[in-house]
Amino acid sequence: MAKVYRDDDIDLSVLEGKTVSILGYGNQGRSQAQNLRDNGINVVIGNRGDDYRALAGDDGFEASDIPTATTKGDVVMVLLPDETQASVLPVDVFPHLMPGATLVFAHGYSVFYKEIDPPEGHDITLLAPKMIGAAVRELFTAGAGFPSLVAVDRDSTGRAWDTVLALAKGIGSTKLGAWETTFEEETITDLFGEQVGGGGAIISIMRSFKVLTDAGYDPEVVQLEMLGSGELVEVIRSQWREGVIEALTGHSPTSQFGQLHRAEELKDNGEAEQYLKGVLNQLQDGSFAELWRREQESGYERLEKLRAHYLGDAFCDASRRNREELKEVIEKGIV
Ligand code: NDP
Repeated sequence: MAKVYRDDDIDLSVLEGKTVSILGYGNQGRSQAQNLRDNGINVVIGNRGDDYRALAGDDGFEASDIPTATTKGDVVMVLLPDETQASVLPVDVFPHLMPGATLVFAHGYSVFYKEIDPPEGHDITLLAPKMIGAAVRELFTAGAGFPSLVAVDRDSTGRAWDTVLALAKGIGSTKLGAWETTFEEETITDLFGEQVGGGGAIISIMRSFKVLTDAGYDPEVVQLEMLGSGELVEVIRSQWREGVIEALTGHSPTSQFGQLHRAEELKDNGEAEQYLKGVLNQLQDGSFAELWRREQESGYERLEKLRAHYLGDAFCDASRRNREELKEVIEKGIV
């Protein structure tokens, strides 16, 4: 079982007198920077000279370009988009690192797939919030924590764990807990979760919509059932709170029987498991990373085509119409 670190296990004073350079003032960068500062840690920001850097200045941070901020950091937190790291880090970060500075990533992708080759003599660590950036700040200001994953890939100084755990406390995560992992485990499980969970949800919702509308049922009524009403949001929320099976007691006996009966049918479909194992293989052997690298080189040609293709689907038309009808509920966040 993974070790879980909480506030009481961690000494924040290892960051006393240190400067944390946060590179990238986007979703994660802004929230993590503000949380660290509120915990008394000295933070500087590095970003390209645009609105994000101006925002960091407006928020009261010393903000400069990425190389300048890197030179100031005892700890350098890389909160740049993963797909930019292979081009930005070797030029703007690695040559400017202070001797012995700790590098911290929020996702293991670039390190695990060896898209970058950080110089020797630096700790290489991971602090990956399992939370969207805005909520990292909102939960902190509400006095709550959020889960994160922590790992050390290289411990050059012998203090890598102390540093990354202090940061996990500093950003407010260990009020709830930081789970110990590895760069490989974080990367593979994160990609697998989003690809299979997200991809599976898209196709199960859209294919069900097609089957039902092909059978003559009304698109808006079907869309409401599959997603639009917001009931699914509540179902997932109750599964999260109570457990996938435990939450079934909130459904009618007909629904409970139907769900478990279909789950049993799908479970016996060996093709699904075969497919999932295939996805895992492609993540482990680097072939998905290679596919994604080529996609970036092509200027995201296939991504744009796929997006346009799915947006043109009748399901998205019905969704747009229903969202208009449900505007008030959605805007008020009632569901
Ligand atoms: P964002 O896209 O929100 O922010 C990225 C920041 O990097 C912005 O300040 C952006 O500013 C800057 N940036 C973008 N492109 C470049 C470039 N080519 N050169 C220099 N700077 C650039 O990223 P996220 O905060 O979403 O992600 C950062 C890291 O956090 C990633 O590793 C991600 O996997 C990880 N993460 C993200 C989560 C999330 O909820 N979003 C959750 C957990 C981990 P500008 O474009 O103005 O230069």
